[in-house]
Amino acid sequence: MSPRIEPEAGPPGRHAAGLFGPAATRRDGNGHALHAPVLVLNASYEPINVCAARRALVLVLKGIAMTEEENGHFLHAARIAMRVPSVIRLLEYRRIPHQSRALSRKNILLRDRNTCQYCATVLSSGELTLDHVIPRSRGGSSTWENLVACCHSCNRRKGNQFPGEAGMKLMREPRAFNLHTSRHIMRLMGRSDDKWRKYLFY
Ligand SMILES: [Zn+2]
Repeated sequence: MSPRIEPEAGPPGRHAAGLFGPAATRRDGNGHALHAPVLVLNASYEPINVCAARRALVLVLKGIAMTEEENGHFLHAARIAMRVPSVIRLLEYRRIPHQSRALSRKNILLRDRNTCQYCATVLSSGELTLDHVIPRSRGGSSTWENLVACCHSCNRRKGNQFPGEAGMKLMREPRAFNLHTSRHIMRLMGRSDDKWRKYLFY
């Protein structure tokens, strides 16, 4: 059975965020290789994203990106055998909207590395809650800068108080999800792939 290589999303948007649609979910003979993570570099070699191999192959076939590193697998389709990339690079420089990540519980926990920002305990996502640093009841908003990962025990202790009033201190100032944070996550994902190292660790 030959996989059809087609983009999941429509044509690429004006900036790079539009290039990365949701990863394919269809299973086929090449399924595993097609889901392998691929590091995406801007034309300037700056790492900007991670996508599924399937998406990376579409970008290469459409002439939007070129393969910089291969992962050693082949994709066998009807008339072609293609090397599956491990790293691709966009041929044209794209402006990256640095703070385009959606504000969500998942992304807050990612940013805070599943660590309670008051007592530094690392917990599973299910054991963490979100704390409004300035309590909602006192005018605190639901923003990147006012939400942090928090364990239930710290959350109870803090209640409707400011951290200072409860004798608590934040490990670090909460910030929007920026390129630095994304790069940290790309590093975690690429830890097992030697071919990513020279682009991520410098
Ligand atoms: Zn805690």
